[in-house]
Amino acid sequence: MARNSSNRYHPVVRVLLLGGTAEARDLAAALAATDIAFTSSLAGRVSHPRLPVGEVRIGGFGGAEGLIAYMRAQQVTHLVDATHPFARTMSEHAAQACEVTGISLIRLERPGWTARPDADAWHWAQDLDDVRTQAESIGRRPFITSGRQTLYAFASWTDRNVLVRIVEPLNTATPPGWTVIEDRGPYSQTSERALMHAHAIDVLITKDSGGPHTAAKLDAAAELHIPVVVLARPASAQSATVVTDVAGCLNALR
Ligand code: NAP
Repeated sequence: MARNSSNRYHPVVRVLLLGGTAEARDLAAALAATDIAFTSSLAGRVSHPRLPVGEVRIGGFGGAEGLIAYMRAQQVTHLVDATHPFARTMSEHAAQACEVTGISLIRLERPGWTARPDADAWHWAQDLDDVRTQAESIGRRPFITSGRQTLYAFASWTDRNVLVRIVEPLNTATPPGWTVIEDRGPYSQTSERALMHAHAIDVLITKDSGGPHTAAKLDAAAELHIPVVVLARPASAQSATVVTDVAGCLNALR
């Protein structure tokens, strides 16, 4: 039976872990080495997701109400929101559900790239219109890495060569000048440099995802003196205990 010592947890702790990120998979691996009961949750957007260890459920809950019902039925005591920094809707639902139920909310969010030495030289944007406008003023051969869900904002770019990288195939047609690459990383600076060079990229578009998995493009852009337009992060839910790594999350659960 679990005890409250440094590496043991109270037996009634039951975690729902909202994932879809590398940190969530790392946390699942760490939780599996404890006596905490946990279930990871994935949205189901990716056809062949990288699965975390342990029990996994897949698919939406049906809004905040559905999440509340699920957590009550499963007797969840702690909700860990380890979704991507830009998965804003899920995080809002998590905050609402915890507010209603009184379940503890921990937000595991990797630090952004703002502390990088080159971040001050980037063109920061507050929304996608801002991203498009700034990128238009910089170059005509953009490399869009901000994700499938952001592409609608660039649909007017029918007059230029655009390189897009996404994880899942698109189910809509893109303009003739667009080249779409399906890849999920992680990437090396060497391969990113070669890709940008091959497509004569003159502006890199990204969002402040943070973490090491997709940071090589920033190193390559710095090396090639390619300007970077970055979509800033949305704010976190106020009610959450915010941690930035797995160790911090385990401490918060103790
Ligand atoms: P979102 O816009 O915040 O969420 C939309 C809806 O998807 C939510 O309302 C929820 O449906 C469902 N959902 C999202 N995450 C879920 C999860 N972990 N478990 C169960 N349902 C989930 O999310 P998104 O930006 O589309 O991202 C979807 C997933 O991909 C997230 O889990 C996120 O961690 C991961 N991801 C996102 C990005 C990104 O750039 N946005 C990048 C990498 C990975 P219901 O309302 O029906 O509950």
